[in-house]
Amino acid sequence: MDVIEKGETVKKRIAAACKRSGRNPQEVQLLAVSKNHSADDILQLNKSGWTDFGENYVQELAKKHEELPQSISWYMIGHLQRNKVKYIADYVKMIQSVDTVKLLHTIEKEAKKHNRQIPVLIEVNVGEEESKFGVRPTLEVCMELADECLKLPHVKLRGLMTSAPYFEDPEETRPIFRKLRELRDEMNKQNSQLKLDVLSMGMTHDFEIAIEEGATCVRVGTAIFGPRDYANRQY
Ligand SMILES: *Cc1c(COP(=O)(O)O)cnc(C)c1O
Repeated sequence: MDVIEKGETVKKRIAAACKRSGRNPQEVQLLAVSKNHSADDILQLNKSGWTDFGENYVQELAKKHEELPQSISWYMIGHLQRNKVKYIADYVKMIQSVDTVKLLHTIEKEAKKHNRQIPVLIEVNVGEEESKFGVRPTLEVCMELADECLKLPHVKLRGLMTSAPYFEDPEETRPIFRKLRELRDEMNKQNSQLKLDVLSMGMTHDFEIAIEEGATCVRVGTAIFGPRDYANRQY
């Protein structure tokens, strides 16, 4: 199967998960996670109507942005160093991996230079894994970042993002996704100015469970592009 066929299969699975949980498929954005995959594969998808792509590394994102059609929307989903924000601030559609106040301030500064507002998500390490980035999953920590966002005119906080721990049985990720949704709901209750509507959760292994638990954005790489071959890096 080529990327188009695999992409269509993912869309069908999303539609089925929505149907099972009484949700409208229009509410669920599919981000094609293209890290370590070729510009050709991205272009092929883009030509058949795909516009939203997620990348993890600034250098790779910037190079692909340069090479590929300007109509593509690029989402930063990987750990972001403050000194690299300037390379993507001009065009990035959303930064989903915010986990410190300092990073927020850098995004504010760089967005201001380009006279734009950058939508962001707070990355939450719900599973509290050593190996993962993201803030601790407490209301207090998330509200500290959210309150800061409200003071920054060039940053727009839209919601929360998480990557679940790997479980052989994806059903075991359900409490993780549920926790992210509850955290988002509590934040909206705590401060009615927030109006957080985005929950970015679910990847190849677990996106259907995430949709059942309220995901509004799923980030799917392997199921669309195949396995990533890091020995064959192009970027
Ligand atoms: C790589 C990556 C994905 C996609 O993972 P797959 O398992 O290939 O679908 C999603 N989100 C983040 C943050 C990633 O780094």
